Amino acid sequence: MKRVTILGATGSIGQNTIDLIARDPDAYQVVALTGSGNIARLAADAIRLRAGLAVTADPARLQDLRDALAGSGVEAAAGPRALVEAASRPADWVMSAIVGAAGLAPGLAALEQGATLALANKESLVCAGSLVLATARANDARLLPVDSEHSAVFQALVGEDMSAVERIVITGSGGAFRDWPIEALEHATLAEASSHPNWDMGQRITIDSASMFNKGLELIETKEYFGVRPDQIETIIHPESLVHAIVGFRDGALMAHVGPPDMRHAIGYALHWPDRRHLPVARLDLAQVASLTFRAPDLTRYPALRLARAVMDRGGLSGAVFNAAKERALDAFIAGRIRFTDMAVVVEEVLTRFESEAGLIDAAMTLDNVTQTDHLARMRADQVMAERAG
Ligand code: NAD
Ligand code: MG
Repeated sequence: MKRVTILGATGSIGQNTIDLIARDPDAYQVVALTGSGNIARLAADAIRLRAGLAVTADPARLQDLRDALAGSGVEAAAGPRALVEAASRPADWVMSAIVGAAGLAPGLAALEQGATLALANKESLVCAGSLVLATARANDARLLPVDSEHSAVFQALVGEDMSAVERIVITGSGGAFRDWPIEALEHATLAEASSHPNWDMGQRITIDSASMFNKGLELIETKEYFGVRPDQIETIIHPESLVHAIVGFRDGALMAHVGPPDMRHAIGYALHWPDRRHLPVARLDLAQVASLTFRAPDLTRYPALRLARAVMDRGGLSGAVFNAAKERALDAFIAGRIRFTDMAVVVEEVLTRFESEAGLIDAAMTLDNVTQTDHLARMRADQVMAERAG
């Protein structure tokens, strides 16, 4: 039996992970499930999967969780420390599917106990790539990518030598607004930004797809995970979302990973790795697909890509600043306080302000420093937004 823990079990990735595990209940022992606001979902899955522990990130919901689990034998806990404790419980495989920088500390705790960490939470690598990789190495723990593009690259690299890799091409659908006139973007509504042309995902990553902040995070994730130079990473708009990534080798060969837009492929690959097992995903009919199209991204439409490039070049803790400012700007867009196009403006301004505060971005990459930088960047983002509003 494989002992598994799912961090962020109630979200889109978490639910897809549960879908796979529930198809073969005898193969898995569920150590812990975590969520935040959706107590009913968390409790129902914990009872159904006979989890040892269920944790909500929100301490105010502990009693609700206890009530929902009453008599089931599933232990209940709440709060950020309880999330880390859940991730520390001995497990063979831990899914990191919390959204945002909140996923970093629990993910590190899972690596510290030597578990294989299936990483959907790309923010961990953006904020603290070298810390995450060093923690995996120090504890002989395995880190497997779950983001579809990075799983695709990982699969294209099986049996290959990294020294033969010339470039990595990450595809992106272009999101909800890829065909909108640029002038219209500032009036984009929350509902419009929250619908993705091809993928069914959590709301935050869906909006980040429309702005391509998601692709920006993924560029940084690629650099950190695969250890390639920024100039070796390309991004291309591919509206069909069927080619997930392409690896270019020094002999000119391109290895593309093609499949339907279903996260259960990447999750299942990480769950069964190094085996490749049957997965319940649709099979592509290429004659029906008929054509695959690609076009260069327009950096005027997607300033997030330009900012992510600057972050890759800058290094240090600039990824933590970039992510935290983006999270705050996204909160403000969701709350209706700023416009869609303001998000990139706010993030750029926060990055600029950090540059003038000597030493902050070049501090050592420890969990404490990343956490402090994350908090400070959120404050700076709030300041920038208050100044712009006033
Ligand atoms: P989601 O919003 O659907 O779910 C997020 C999960 O995190 C939920 O379980 C929620 O309860 C929990 N959570 C939210 N805030 C939290 C906090 N402060 N502390 C602890 N837990 C918290 O998100 P999602 O779409 O499943 O994405 C999860 C992660 O996977 C993100 O990092 C995202 O970028 C990445 N990812 C998602 C997809 C996708 O298809 N959804 C694809 C690639 C990568
Ligand atoms: Mg992705």
